[in-house]
Amino acid sequence: MITIGLDIGSTTTKAAVLNGHTLMGVKVRPTGYNAGMAGSRIFKEILEELDLENNQIKRIITTGYGRNSVDFADKAMSEIMCHGAGVNFTCPGIRTLVDIGGQDSKAIAMDEGGKVRDFAMNDKCAAGTGRFLEVMTRVLEVDLSALGRMSLNAKNPCRISSTCTVFAESEVISLISKGENRSNILAGVNDAIATRVSALSKRVGVTEPVMMTGGVAMNAGLVKAMEVRLGVSIRVFDTAQVNGAIGAAVLARGL
Ligand code: ADP
Repeated sequence: MITIGLDIGSTTTKAAVLNGHTLMGVKVRPTGYNAGMAGSRIFKEILEELDLENNQIKRIITTGYGRNSVDFADKAMSEIMCHGAGVNFTCPGIRTLVDIGGQDSKAIAMDEGGKVRDFAMNDKCAAGTGRFLEVMTRVLEVDLSALGRMSLNAKNPCRISSTCTVFAESEVISLISKGENRSNILAGVNDAIATRVSALSKRVGVTEPVMMTGGVAMNAGLVKAMEVRLGVSIRVFDTAQVNGAIGAAVLARGL
């Protein structure tokens, strides 16, 4: 049975195709201003890439902030449900999931059987989300993909004391004008996010094994900062950014 999960996020839209228990393919593209169009496009593109016809797809589930913006899906489901299912597919036994996306962050506590026990979410403030990193890397003229590596090279990480993105941006600009090394500033930026998200995670209780997902999990400097703040080691898989889409495809099997 072939199923598709579409995670239409605020920043990126993700697709995952499952054939039974086998992951056939995944895809990520920017969401842009029209979430419905991003969902329709990625659906069409992934079918083409995998050489599949529409009538071979048994069921489609959408999730993410734009989950109700397409009319061809069988069902829209919550991100928490889909992320939980994605974790159980990729690494059964995970007890705590921390997902940091473009405009929100969430911590999900799972019980021993893989069921979601509790969750906490920040979708009100850019600090503690990927948006914060996008703002700071733009000011520092650093590519997002280089952020993790550069921050891990820091010899003397800076401390960013502002909790607000706008004030933190001013702080970063003033550090640049003082001639502070970019790696040190980036390490401070990652630590600022880790401080926020680790506090959010502690609200649900952090039990190992812990996994991180979302586009921000590709930032190794932030994963390291989270490990230090939480005092645990964190697992990251190469499907981190598409975890919600994989979970949606898994749940579509059981509809
Ligand atoms: P959403 O599902 O909320 O739309 P994602 O989970 O795709 O968002 O995460 C988007 C965020 O991921 C961006 O804001 C950015 O901070 C981060 N990101 C994207 N690509 C990379 C990369 N190559 N390295 C580090 N971080 C990245």
